[in-house]
Amino acid sequence: MAEFPSVILAMGRSYMFECPRCYYRAIVAGGLDSSFHCWVQTIVCYDCKALHDVPVRVRVRIEEPHGTSAASQTRSSILMPRTEVPEVSNLLNRLFVTLAKEFRWVNYKLRCPKSDTHRIEPWREPGKCPRCNTQLERSLTPYRIWD
Ligand SMILES: [Zn+2]
Ligand SMILES: [Zn+2]
Repeated sequence: MAEFPSVILAMGRSYMFECPRCYYRAIVAGGLDSSFHCWVQTIVCYDCKALHDVPVRVRVRIEEPHGTSAASQTRSSILMPRTEVPEVSNLLNRLFVTLAKEFRWVNYKLRCPKSDTHRIEPWREPGKCPRCNTQLERSLTPYRIWD
């Protein structure tokens, strides 16, 4: 299981939700939210008795593409004259730049960020307080907006 990149959790649009009875507060998206780089789903954890935003889909840069196969290496060695080293490094640089622009989506299974064993469910506003089951009140404006 890949670790959640913590910076991802700060993306998207979040609201302050507050419980009028027990004063529990959470700053979460309030459902499924997507930004350019990730989709975030708000969950309720019955073990933490808290709401969490967790990434469900994250766009990641491809570091080592599957295309780095023996075939492409063979083709490269045919195309590149061994004596001309500068040309080879130029080609490699160009290859690297091209690859760095490629992204793919990684899907995550919904889970509590604290523990795999916690019982969780997707949470969507309007929803109940994870502590006292009172309906949470949402702030009118986004608490923070990041992309
Ligand atoms: Zn409450
Ligand atoms: Zn939990």
